[in-house]
Amino acid sequence: MPRTGAYLDYQASTPLDPRVREVLFDALASPGNPSSEEHSFGWKAARCVEEARAAVAAALGASAEEIVFTSGATESNNIALLGAAKAAPAGRRRILVSAIEHKSVLAAAEATTPWGFVVELIPANAAGVIEPASLADRLDDDVAVVSVMAVNNEIGTIQPIAELGRMVRNAGAFFHVDGTQALAAVDVDVNAWLADAVSLSAHKIYGPGGVGALFVALDAPWRPAPLAFGGGQEGGLRPGTVPSALCAALGEACRLIRVEGAAERPRIAVLRAQLEVSLRGLLPSLKVTCASTPRHPGSLHLQLPGVSADDLLGRLQPQVAASTGSACTSGVIGPSHVLMAIGLTAEQAAECVRFSLGRFSTQVDVMAASAAIESALVRRAA
Ligand code: PMP
Repeated sequence: MPRTGAYLDYQASTPLDPRVREVLFDALASPGNPSSEEHSFGWKAARCVEEARAAVAAALGASAEEIVFTSGATESNNIALLGAAKAAPAGRRRILVSAIEHKSVLAAAEATTPWGFVVELIPANAAGVIEPASLADRLDDDVAVVSVMAVNNEIGTIQPIAELGRMVRNAGAFFHVDGTQALAAVDVDVNAWLADAVSLSAHKIYGPGGVGALFVALDAPWRPAPLAFGGGQEGGLRPGTVPSALCAALGEACRLIRVEGAAERPRIAVLRAQLEVSLRGLLPSLKVTCASTPRHPGSLHLQLPGVSADDLLGRLQPQVAASTGSACTSGVIGPSHVLMAIGLTAEQAAECVRFSLGRFSTQVDVMAASAAIESALVRRAA
C-alpha cells in the first residue's frame, strides 16, 4: 500500500483493502441501474446489490430484508433517530441519547425538538461506560427512542449494549445503536444486542467513503418513517438510485470482517500494546484513557501530561497521522464533548491524542511513530 509516514488514524478512516478495491473497480466498470427491470445490465446491477445486502446482513447476524443502504453512518444515524421519532406513538415524546455519542446522533436527536420531543443525555461514567443504572433512571413508557453507540470513536470504550437493549425492549421504546466503530472491534450480533436499528459505514471497515447501511429489525416496535421521498428504493426509507458498485464494496468489506475480523483483532491489540509501552518509555507520566474498560483493540487514546496535543500532532507532520479527537463545531475548536463527559478538564482534554491501528498496521509503523514522537518531544523540550 503506497503511503508516506505511519498512518495511525484508523478510527477516522481505514485504508481501502485492495480486495475491496478490486470488487469496487470491477463493479464500477459495469453500467446499469439496479432499478432497471427491462434488461440484463439492470438485472446484473440488482444482483450485485442483493449479494452485497446479504453480505452486510451476515456480518451483523441480520437478514437481508433488514438492510437499507445509505451514504454512510451520518445518514444512517439521521434516518434512525429522526425517522423513529417521526413514527413514534403520540404518548412517547422523550429521546435518550448517551453523552458520548457521535455528533451525527446528538445533532439528529436535537433536530426532533421542534416536533415536540425532549432530548435527555444519559451520562457516561469516568471509565467511559454508559451504566445500565443510568439508563434505568431515565427509562419510562414515555420514551420514544434510545440511542447508545456500541464502541466509542474517540476513546474506544465498548458499551454493555445487550444489557441496555433488554431494558429498552422491556420499556417498549425503539433502540438505535451506532455500530460504526463496532465491526472492526467486536463480533456484532444485532439479535444479541436486541437492537431495532444499527448504523454502519464502509470507510471504517476498509471500504470506500460514501456508502453505509442501516439495519432496521423486522420486529422493531415500529418502522422509522422516511425523511426523503422519491422512487421508493430501499423499502421507501432511502429513495434514490442505489449505487451498486459502492454497495458491492461495502458487501466485500463486511464479508472480510466476518471471515477475518476475529482473527485480526489480537494482532492489532499486540501492536497497540507495543506502541503504548514504547510511548510510556518516552513519557512515563502518560495515562491511557479508560484503561480498565474493554476497548476497541486498535484504539490507544492517551493523555500526555504537559504536552499540547495540537502542537505535538503538528510537529509529527508528515511522519505520523493521528488525531486529537477534538470536536470541531461551526469552525470553532473546543474540547471534545466525549472527554468532558468522562470528567476530564478542558486542560486535560487539550493533552489528549488518539492513535488508532488496524488491519494494515505493522511493527514498522509502531517503531516509526515512536521515533517521530520521541524527536518531536525532544524538539519541544529544547
Ligand atoms: N458514528 C461514529 C461512531 C463515527 O465514528 C462516525 C465517523 N467518524 C460516524 C458516525 C459518521 O460516519 P460517516 O463518516 O460514515 O458519516
